[in-house]
Amino acid sequence: MSLVDLILSRELTYAAARAKDSGKRCDIEAGMAKLLAARAAWSNADASLQIHGGNGYALECEISRVLCDARILNIFEGAAEIQAQVIARGLLEGRN
Ligand SMILES: Cc1cc2nc3c(=O)[nH]c(=O)nc-3n(C[C@H](O)[C@H](O)[C@H](O)COP(=O)(O)OP(=O)(O)OC[C@H]3O[C@@H](n4cnc5c(N)ncnc54)[C@H](O)[C@@H]3O)c2cc1C
Repeated sequence: MSLVDLILSRELTYAAARAKDSGKRCDIEAGMAKLLAARAAWSNADASLQIHGGNGYALECEISRVLCDARILNIFEGAAEIQAQVIARGLLEGRN
């Protein structure tokens, strides 16, 4: 699942970049890429920490920092709820 999440996030990001490069609005694509990639980062970091067992939770273990850093991706540069609103607004305005 980690690889699937990674590839989906990357393809959505490329789709947003292609839309932008072609001079079109890309807020729906960019919002979807940001929403999915932030969720994937959190889920993948969580799965990685699980593999490390209890040691992974210790501050000395790098994966605990990765998990902490992955968490903020759903908040800064537009929280998940804001990305969802950007996507919904775009769809309701018929921009897709
Ligand atoms: C490490 C770090 C670096 C940052 N760097 C920058 C920077 O360089 N430049 C900059 O400008 N800002 C920066 N920020 C600020 C960041 O952009 C804000 O934290 C982010 O926009 C969320 O705003 P807030 O923290 O005020 O949360 P709030 O706006 O108080 O939102 C709190 C929570 O409420 C929910 N929520 C908020 N609004 C809605 C809504 N309309 N509908 C539904 N739910 C909602 C969301 O779950 C959200 O997470 C940084 C933050 C951090 C933690």
